[in-house]
Amino acid sequence: MRIAEIYRSIQGEGLLTGVPSTFVRASGCNLRCWFCDTPHASWNPEGEDLSVAEILGRIELLHVDHVVLTGGEPMLFAEMIPLCEGIRHSGRHITIETAGTLHLPLPCDLMSISPKLSNSAPNPDEHPRWHRRHEQTRDQIDVVRRLLDEFPYQLKFVIDRQPDCDEVLAYLDRLPQLDRSRVFVMPQGIEQQQLETIGVWLQPWAEEHQLQFCQRKQIEWFGFARGT
Ligand code: SF4
Repeated sequence: MRIAEIYRSIQGEGLLTGVPSTFVRASGCNLRCWFCDTPHASWNPEGEDLSVAEILGRIELLHVDHVVLTGGEPMLFAEMIPLCEGIRHSGRHITIETAGTLHLPLPCDLMSISPKLSNSAPNPDEHPRWHRRHEQTRDQIDVVRRLLDEFPYQLKFVIDRQPDCDEVLAYLDRLPQLDRSRVFVMPQGIEQQQLETIGVWLQPWAEEHQLQFCQRKQIEWFGFARGT
């Protein structure tokens, strides 16, 4: 499996904010969000091919109890199954960060699903082929339902503009059984000022609808930097 990076940091988003974690970033994605903050794992995938044993060895060296498997889209890779089994065997907590378009049978303690809204589509003039593929792929509600049924979960929506909020509510209407205390709305952006500007209207909106406002603490703590 091609791995863009493995590093130790602190989870900055969602239910486990503040928890020291080892991040394993799989390189490759089936979507192409225009705002992707990890283009080195999507638009321009890079990294080295590592075996499952090599990845487990590097996780072991970092001595952290929580492991976050992220990307790109980690659920693209069948090697995730033995990798998660190995991490589980070592006694560590597993979070998988996914856009929720693919399912794999694997052990996972927190499935962190970030369904992509229409605000994520790449520019159709600059990337016509990817625009078409992205729009065909991004909304897989049956996959999301299965992930919600099988795993402890959180949902995170990236919000760029106020109309995105209506789309979130329409999406949630399709999942009436959902626990809203596990649904986060998160400002789009890679600069603290941008996040705060959106947060001014997004945070009260989230409270009004019994949803969680998700800060991106890694930006506040470290700025926008790889390996954090
Ligand atoms: S799904 Fe995630 S990794 Fe893939 S392009 Fe979108 S933001 Fe980037």
